Amino acid sequence: MSASHRILLRPHAKINIGLHILRKRPDAYHDIETIFHEVDLYDEIELVRTEGISMESSSPAAPPDAENLCMRAAALLRQWSGYEHGVHIRLTKRIPVGGGLGGGSSDAAAVLVGLNHLWNLSLPVEDLQRLGGQLGADVSFFIRGESAYATGRGEVLRHGDFRVPFWILLVTPPVHVSTAWAYQHVVPRPPTRTSGLSAVFEGDLGRSPDLLLEVENDFEIPVFAHYPAIQDVKRRLGSAGAALALMSGSGASVFGLFREEDQANSAAAGFSDEYLCSLTPPLFRPPQPRLRVIDDEPR
Ligand code: ATP
Repeated sequence: MSASHRILLRPHAKINIGLHILRKRPDAYHDIETIFHEVDLYDEIELVRTEGISMESSSPAAPPDAENLCMRAAALLRQWSGYEHGVHIRLTKRIPVGGGLGGGSSDAAAVLVGLNHLWNLSLPVEDLQRLGGQLGADVSFFIRGESAYATGRGEVLRHGDFRVPFWILLVTPPVHVSTAWAYQHVVPRPPTRTSGLSAVFEGDLGRSPDLLLEVENDFEIPVFAHYPAIQDVKRRLGSAGAALALMSGSGASVFGLFREEDQANSAAAGFSDEYLCSLTPPLFRPPQPRLRVIDDEPR
């Protein structure tokens, strides 16, 4: 019998294929409707079983302190499970921080999934999703990842085999938008449109490209008014031939869906080095299994 000692994970970034802000709730959160979809851009996390909880990070924008979502996820799981040992976390950041790509939430979910294995807790996915929800609304999605239609605060999830039959070019301009600011300035629109994104999630974008007409992001109105550089990215992706160009989350990242790889590459080539570009191939799914055990030690 052996126990895993070291685990590698690749937390992926997500985009929001449509984001509707439906209403402000009495608890000060907002009800939303969105499709979360993981793309081919990821951080790397290494978990090593040890005493205490400690961390190192490759990014000054995500420092290894108690506020880091990786540390918060580990501390929450240890407190909740009563596990008496710990973990050292090594984070290599590739997903732009604060880009509307859910990088911090994906890291937190990966730590929960990885520690469930490393600490032999055998908790069901539902428990991890519930715990993740305490760290942030998007964390629950990343426990299973891939794609999901989400409502509530974003934690009521319907996972499914949703595929995007386009090249996805993701562009993050050198602009930071605070999610809190975006929520303060967005005007919720009543939930008369909720069937739209649900139909997109159930439908086939390859056969029914008209479904893309249903896909809007309500944050674009306040964000574009305040940050014209982000609207400019959307305009440039549209001019380069994108079938859809849309902001992800509360920005600043914008993605374009392209039928041809060449079109996507020439759109990317038009942006200066300050703009981070990444390309996801059609029908992409993150590789399975989601965690890799690197070595075992005798128990
Ligand atoms: P959201 O839309 O959920 O706010 P985002 O994709 O815009 O997320 P993140 O990259 O998740 O932004 O970072 C949001 C904030 O979380 C940042 O201000 C950052 O300081 C903090 N943070 C804490 N831990 C991490 C982490 N591991 N990676 C990235 N950011 C982190």
